[in-house]
Amino acid sequence: MAKRRIVLIGYRGSGKSSVGMALSRLTGQNFLDTDKLIEEAAGKKIPQIFEAEGEAGFRELEQHVIARIPSGAGIVSTGGGAVIHLDNVRLLRMNSIIVFLNSSPEVIYKRIHKTNRPSLTGLSPRDEIKQVLNERMPLYRSAADIVIDTSTTTSEEAASLILNILKNGIFNKEKRIGLLSSVMKTDIPQGEKMLLKKLSGVHDIFLYGILGYPCMHSKSPVIYNRLFADYAMPAHYTWFEHKNPKEFFASLPGTGVRGLSVTIPHKETVIPFLDEVKHDAQSIGAVNTVLIQDDRKFGFNTDWKGIYRPLEGAEGDVAVILGAGGAAAAAVYAVSMRGFTPVILNRTPDRAKNLARKTGSETGAINDIGKYRPDLLINATPVGMGSDPNTPVPISSLKPGMKVFDLVYTPRDTPLLQAALAAGCFVIPGTEMFIHQLAEQFRILTGIDTPVLRIREMLA
Ligand code: NAP
Repeated sequence: MAKRRIVLIGYRGSGKSSVGMALSRLTGQNFLDTDKLIEEAAGKKIPQIFEAEGEAGFRELEQHVIARIPSGAGIVSTGGGAVIHLDNVRLLRMNSIIVFLNSSPEVIYKRIHKTNRPSLTGLSPRDEIKQVLNERMPLYRSAADIVIDTSTTTSEEAASLILNILKNGIFNKEKRIGLLSSVMKTDIPQGEKMLLKKLSGVHDIFLYGILGYPCMHSKSPVIYNRLFADYAMPAHYTWFEHKNPKEFFASLPGTGVRGLSVTIPHKETVIPFLDEVKHDAQSIGAVNTVLIQDDRKFGFNTDWKGIYRPLEGAEGDVAVILGAGGAAAAAVYAVSMRGFTPVILNRTPDRAKNLARKTGSETGAINDIGKYRPDLLINATPVGMGSDPNTPVPISSLKPGMKVFDLVYTPRDTPLLQAALAAGCFVIPGTEMFIHQLAEQFRILTGIDTPVLRIREMLA
């Protein structure tokens, strides 16, 4: 196994420093504690730094120190809030295995209540631990490769557990081979088959992939693998073309699969197999992102962010959404969050009514478009995709100044966008949705905030 840094993250009192020292004793590797490095750099103890410069000043120093940690092998223990700055996560992830030490709030309280760190929230120590741990949990989960519960272990026991996991492989060999052999039987490119064959015997590379049926057309594997290379992450992203999500999820434990993008037709059908679904995904009724941590599966929807973010600065009252499928549900959520009143028009009006049940939106058939003069028009149907020369609505309904967002992204310049440009509308191509939803998904699955510019460049 390649020598990688072991980086420890987790709440204060979860045992990072003592487990780090134990790991250093057991392996003979150097140990760096970022809190100590910060104190050395500032010439002050942490409470004094907080007093003089506040939490913001401390976080800046912390970022400065983390940026200077050598990326070679060694053991690194970080401050409890290091994961708040996603730039820190990016730096800590390089050539590393990140271990999240998790303890219960009560155990943390017992360990730290006598220390003299300043309060971050003004709450009682017990309540502060519960609240801050809760707020940071998604960040710890996204950043971590392995989770160790340190509530009842000694430092030596936790260190031995980590080394044991790293020595014997992070995954179960047979399960990993079983999963990859079934992937190799699908229609993946020949080069990918050879790579997966190699990865069957490599036990410190995490797996990610797209789950769908079909999904071989997806550009996500190329983009993810380039991003993993950019960030020196020990990970590989592949195609999981599978008809049956229940069977697929049953094959995952012990295989080292850390995250999934989910596409048609599984965005709704995966939900019953997840342990937790974030409220926005519940509201939209679809999951396109699954983070797997410690065999627990967390569901998210990043599609709506892919529509919301390109609409930054968009103003107006009425947004007409064409379509009533998964993309339309995300669009309804996104435009509502931007303050528009959504109107849902669909080929099958009953399906539009069904989607509108949660929002109480106005609905109709696509032919009703003439009744509206929307400020924003979003196409969430496949009309105009590939070589389809059609527009989903008559060109006469496109008015100057209207914003037109076509979620179809192959081709980039769809017939609708070409007609909208000619009619004097502002246009947003579907590639923008793809780029922004992927950036958000990458952040959830890795803890790294990748610039959208980098993804846009890869798609060009
Ligand atoms: P979906 O759940 O299958 O829904 C498709 C919707 O389009 C349904 O409302 C359907 O109407 C309507 N429709 C299908 N063919 C039509 C036609 N010929 N004329 C009029 N309406 C038609 O699909 P989805 O996941 O929502 O995806 C919809 C589109 O969004 C796709 O083109 C996809 O490429 C795009 N998308 C883009 C991104 C991105 O990143 N840019 C992400 C996701 C989706 P009925 O109810 O009458 O069947």
